[in-house]
Amino acid sequence: MSTTLTDRFGRIHRSLRISIVDKCDLRCTYCMPEDQQFLKRDELMTREEITTIARLFAERYGVNKIRITGGEPLVRPDAVDIVRDLLQLPVKLGLTTNALTLQKHLEGLIDAGLKSINISLDTFDAERFKKIARRDGFDRVWANIRMALDQGLRVKVNMVVMRGVNDDEVLRFVELTCDHPVHVRFIEFMPFAGNHWGRERVYTYGEMLGQIGSVHSFEKLDDDPHSTAKAYRVSDWPGTFAVISTVTDPFCATCDRLRVTAEGKMRNCLFARDETDLLSALRRGEDITPLIEANVRAKHALLGGLPPFKPEKQQEVLHDLSARPMVSIGG
Ligand code: SAM
Ligand code: SF4
Repeated sequence: MSTTLTDRFGRIHRSLRISIVDKCDLRCTYCMPEDQQFLKRDELMTREEITTIARLFAERYGVNKIRITGGEPLVRPDAVDIVRDLLQLPVKLGLTTNALTLQKHLEGLIDAGLKSINISLDTFDAERFKKIARRDGFDRVWANIRMALDQGLRVKVNMVVMRGVNDDEVLRFVELTCDHPVHVRFIEFMPFAGNHWGRERVYTYGEMLGQIGSVHSFEKLDDDPHSTAKAYRVSDWPGTFAVISTVTDPFCATCDRLRVTAEGKMRNCLFARDETDLLSALRRGEDITPLIEANVRAKHALLGGLPPFKPEKQQEVLHDLSARPMVSIGG
């Protein structure tokens, strides 16, 4: 019998992100410190452990959306097998990737039944890509985005917009939705350990809409009740764009997401400071359902208990951040 994962504020959680590896073949400045230490292989959840945990969330708790993430999920040799396993569950499955090696895996992913993919791309300038990602790769990623579209996948492109870094490319990304049926999502730069966040570096939701509106007329689209993105469309264009405004207009009141890190730690919020070790309990043969339920109940009302991301609260926010960089949380 399925029961719901409800927190103390009555929010029901039906969406799960599972990180399958904390390593990455890029080193994006906003996500990963250059000297990041990675987990050892036996610390990662195995393919079977991932399926066991995912099945429990889906079948016992009615979780109906799962997203596989990382680190970079495609650096894990059994990534396609994991996708295939999770596609057997009664969930809508997605994958978030930097697409650097997607050409090697695309056929396998489509064969396994994957229908939609989120690809991160922050710039159309190869030199700028190298600065942001601290590695080369623009040509490969852009070719792979086009390949995924050609193969009929539903493609979302995630762009983290940072003031003075790539805010001058917002229109270029919107114009992608004229040429392709792609869903571009502009993400406000969020604070995580080691990513040199400052409130002044956040190019805001309001500024993005202002910049787009100065050139194109666009319409608001309906959002799913638990969506973190506010969606729009330039009239008659095949694609859409959306903004994820975690910093200036957070959506915690309707958040239904939970997370499991690559080493099997459960987090009830992207900004959580506390986590629950599911994997060790699972390996000891214990029932992990009381751990899962207690973790959900303890969720904070807003931003994992951090102060609002206002300029005057910047020092408090930076002081209270979780020790985990984004790359080891799984966005
Ligand atoms: N490697 C994969 C990728 O890049 O898509 C999956 C993991 S990555 C952590 C997931 C998403 O988090 C990416 O779209 C990335 O752009 C986003 N992200 C990472 N750090 C962020 C930050 N500080 N603010 C906003 N989004 C961030
Ligand atoms: Fe790697 Fe993705 Fe983080 Fe970039 S955003 S460092 S590609 S995990």
